[in-house]
Amino acid sequence: MEKVTEYFGSMVFDDRIMKATLSEKVYKSLKRTIDRGTPLDISVANAVAAAMKDWAIELGATHYTHWFQPMTGVTAEKHDSFISPAPDGRVIMEFSGKELVKGEPDASSFPSGGLRATFEARGYTAWDPTSYAFVKDGTLYIPTAFCSYTGEALDKKVPLLRSMEAINKQALRILKLFGNTKVKSVKTSVGPEQEYFLVDRDMWKQRKDLIMTGRTLFGAMPPKGQEMDDHYFGSIKPRVAEYMADLDRELWKLGILAKTKHNEVAPAQHELAPIYDTTNIAADHNQLTMEVMQKVAQRHNLVCLLHEKPFAGVNGSGKHNNWSISTDQGENLLSPGETPAENAQFLLFLAAVIKAVDDYQDLLRLSVATAGNDHRLGANEAPPAVISIFLGDELTSVLDAIEKDKPYGGTAKEKMKLGVDVLPQFSKDSTDRNRTSPFAFTGNKFEFRMLGSSNSISCANIHLNAAVAEVLRQFADKLEKSKDFNKALHDLIKKTIKDHKRIIFNGNGYDDAWIAEAEKRGLMNLKTTADAMPHICDKKNVDMLTSHGIFTEAEIFSRRDIMLENYIKTVNIEAVTMIDMARKEIIPAVAKFAADTANAVAVKKSVSKAACKYETKLVTELSELIDEMDSATAALEKAVAKFRTIDVIVKASEFIRDTVLPAMDKLRSAADKAETVTAETYWPFPAYDKLLFGV
Ligand code: ADP
Ligand code: MG
Repeated sequence: MEKVTEYFGSMVFDDRIMKATLSEKVYKSLKRTIDRGTPLDISVANAVAAAMKDWAIELGATHYTHWFQPMTGVTAEKHDSFISPAPDGRVIMEFSGKELVKGEPDASSFPSGGLRATFEARGYTAWDPTSYAFVKDGTLYIPTAFCSYTGEALDKKVPLLRSMEAINKQALRILKLFGNTKVKSVKTSVGPEQEYFLVDRDMWKQRKDLIMTGRTLFGAMPPKGQEMDDHYFGSIKPRVAEYMADLDRELWKLGILAKTKHNEVAPAQHELAPIYDTTNIAADHNQLTMEVMQKVAQRHNLVCLLHEKPFAGVNGSGKHNNWSISTDQGENLLSPGETPAENAQFLLFLAAVIKAVDDYQDLLRLSVATAGNDHRLGANEAPPAVISIFLGDELTSVLDAIEKDKPYGGTAKEKMKLGVDVLPQFSKDSTDRNRTSPFAFTGNKFEFRMLGSSNSISCANIHLNAAVAEVLRQFADKLEKSKDFNKALHDLIKKTIKDHKRIIFNGNGYDDAWIAEAEKRGLMNLKTTADAMPHICDKKNVDMLTSHGIFTEAEIFSRRDIMLENYIKTVNIEAVTMIDMARKEIIPAVAKFAADTANAVAVKKSVSKAACKYETKLVTELSELIDEMDSATAALEKAVAKFRTIDVIVKASEFIRDTVLPAMDKLRSAADKAETVTAETYWPFPAYDKLLFGV
């Protein structure tokens, strides 16, 4: 057996390979570009391209692609081969620095929200040298950012990189105030925990809803759901274990630090977590992970479902975005320190995150808003659609002591003096056990738990980085002007806690009482994508995002339109699929069962005087359900037809929310009722028990 240490990263053009294949001069120059963002000289680009090509060909590559993340949420690629004709009729393999650095995919088929008129469909992709190139399926993949020719971002990576730069700039100002002059850069890191479902491929093939929409649009609850909780951390079934082992191997070859794997709460649900990395790399790796998960599943005759809510009535799938800020000196700025100064600095960054999350609740909420994730957030599931922060009791009482100038804890008689006192040691174990909070402090990082399993992590991190950068800017503006730093710092932290403590909630986020309490506190409760998304265009958000150069105003409006378009398109496909399944599969199947039962009654009655009470009652019930399904389908058809006449996107999304989705619910509930009284052999596709317990 090959050793992991030998094949880890074997498909990646990483630092080790760069050192081995590039001249010292070229290597150093590339390193400068990677570490400090200095522009790349064309002669250097040519040398890197040549080395990359030779290395990739050794690994069987014939093509290269500029790999990017358009706003569809999935990745895009266009493959070009390395071949170039030679005068003697043969070919040589070529790849220039120009081809490495810049690509020109036909941008017209990617959503731009009106930013780029289709007649000038030109956009270009630019190499992101901080994320390593890799070989997959015979192609050299070059991670890139995607822009229009006028410089507008057409993807999720450009604004992500801009947001990382914004937080870097503002955090450095703060660190300087604390006398930290050694630090050259500050980076955010992310470890995304990824949830998913596995179902048998043969069963999947029989369900149009899973094929077309990634989730079941019909399905009554099986006799056993997730009540038993016996799946979580239970032993992993052999077929799943084989899948996971194969998946790890593929991810490791691509240099992805897949670390943890286990079963999740729902049957057939699992989780994979990597070791955290710099945010843009974590985002690239998470996209790649989702892709590889689906590909490897095929080999095992499985399907990996990344939808947020594949099954009604059992837990949905999310993604936990573990986020921290650290310096190039290796200091985690969200880690409580051991000296008074370190502690004061920690409390300032903590206060900044608290204020950022409170001030920009809407931006965080809408960064994870999709049709799929609406089934988790705001439904009867964790986390709720209301944003709050879990800090744990210990840290909360420290903040309380600071706010009220009172002694901290039972023993200390002294007031908390920032910059003078040392924070008490927190027991880390007590900090991360709240699983219901949307945004939890877990000892030295925050865990943003609202992301949907299929979301790109970029959006959430763009908004989170932007919001924190903005608060750090406000803090730095204030502190830089102060004469007495320690006093100004103390006052600032105290005021921030006072103004923003409403966002802190350590209780049970599932509880209905919390939603009522949150409303009293004035927190936002944006239940659906249609409610949340328009807020990106609120003046305060536009001002903030543009002032840090993360988006232009045009980019913001285009993003709102693209996200709402994704929402209405998704629901529309679901509605049409439901109609199709109801009309062509479910209603005919139930009608057949009713007819067969009615015939049986006729036959029975012809030979005996039996009353056939059971059959007669059943036929009546089935007939009523058929009528209910028919009229619910007709109502849905009508809603879909009306929806098609609405061309203002915000109005269309509201119509989807208010009319189409409720009509879908009605049809589903009638069909699910019918399923429970229809003989299994008549049901046209595999039911929940088979899907959930069939692997
Ligand atoms: P759990 O949330 O299941 O208890 P952990 O907290 O150990 O698991 O880790 C979850 C994820 O958080 C992992 O991907 C891990 O690499 C990541 N993580 C750990 N420390 C940090 C950090 N300082 N910054 C960002 N992510 C981190
Ligand atoms: Mg976690």
